[in-house]
Amino acid sequence: MQTSLASWIRDTTDGREAEAILRTCVHCGFCNATCPTYQLLGNELDGPRGRIYLIKQVLEGKPATAATQLHLDRCLTCRNCETTCPSGVQYSHLLDIGRRVVEKKVVRPMAAAATRAALREGLTSNAFAPAFRLGQVLRPFLPATLRSKVPPLATARTRGAARRAHPRRMLYLAGCVQPAMQPNINAATERVFDALGVQLTAADGAGCCGAIRHHLADLEGARADARRNIDAWWPQLQSGVEAIVMNASGCGATVREYDHLLREDPRYAEKAARIVAATKDVAEVVPGLVEQAAPRMGPVEMRRVAFHPPCTLQHAQKIRGVVESMLRAVGADVVGFEEAHLCCGSAGTYSVLQPELAGRLRDRKLERIEVARPDVILSANIGCISHLQGGSARPVMHWIEWLDRALAPA
Ligand code: SF4
Ligand code: SF4
Repeated sequence: MQTSLASWIRDTTDGREAEAILRTCVHCGFCNATCPTYQLLGNELDGPRGRIYLIKQVLEGKPATAATQLHLDRCLTCRNCETTCPSGVQYSHLLDIGRRVVEKKVVRPMAAAATRAALREGLTSNAFAPAFRLGQVLRPFLPATLRSKVPPLATARTRGAARRAHPRRMLYLAGCVQPAMQPNINAATERVFDALGVQLTAADGAGCCGAIRHHLADLEGARADARRNIDAWWPQLQSGVEAIVMNASGCGATVREYDHLLREDPRYAEKAARIVAATKDVAEVVPGLVEQAAPRMGPVEMRRVAFHPPCTLQHAQKIRGVVESMLRAVGADVVGFEEAHLCCGSAGTYSVLQPELAGRLRDRKLERIEVARPDVILSANIGCISHLQGGSARPVMHWIEWLDRALAPA
């Protein structure tokens, strides 16, 4: 066992990467202070330091158990611990490796395995949109937990997207679940870019960014998603589009790791690095465009806003403060609230797979926000928006939808 373990570490990319990351952790435990699951459960093994220890043990040859898997499953992959860590530990990469290794060693109960397979295949398939629409029609008859994840049909505002040509061109990723769940986000994004002088289009052939498969330990599936998207974007990038824009921060965080995901693929590694360099979150593009275009603003409805920055924006992509500054510049009264650094519990498929913890984190987030009495809660990721919407009577929307409403019609 020791020999095969030593050769796994020496001869595989995962092994070498895991060993290098483990060496950077000094076990200080600072990360526990900002870990949502440690805050809720108070168990060392439900914090980053404990999970690192569990992964280390498994990689050293100790048997993985269902309990090991549970502690890793409970991690939101929010990466708050990476923001806090003074030693620069790349926790999420280690967790990915640890989850894959444990997944091979611990057989999940049949029902849990079936749920994960249904999420992996269902959310990324073409059947999702019609199934979701059916769910909206049947919403009054759905059980409460499911109902909270399905917005009523009437809330889907679908004013037409922009179709004017502009010399400046950018691409965006429409996403897998977003067009069905909240179609107005993509339409609003196109309208805002149009109003600011940029033609924004979704490339044919692109689809899920790969996050769903990646977080469900399906590495090869995530790589296939990445390659398909690169193939769809590459010709457009060659023909002069300025950037590939993400209006879901979860997708942005994933696409920005395509170079890491495909680093050993001789056909795609270089292209992946170019794609990463061209990828921008809407928060990195729109504030500059607003400043340049100085657009006319209409009367600002829902002026008092609370902005919930998704973990994939603030911790994974390290984009902080720009949305709030821009909203203030265009007339919003941006109110602060406690624990803005903590995850809301959405975290991709987490809210389905860990509903109890996800619900507690959502309620805690909404309680903190409620103290500020905003007119509207804004965020930047479809998962967070839907999750918060399910627990709040206040309107919840993407900040780009708020900006779209605030821009005076051209
Ligand atoms: S991950 Fe970072 S903060 Fe956490 S125990 Fe290791 S070195 Fe300390
Ligand atoms: S990623 Fe988030 S939930 Fe997971 S260990 Fe780090 S802080 Fe805790």
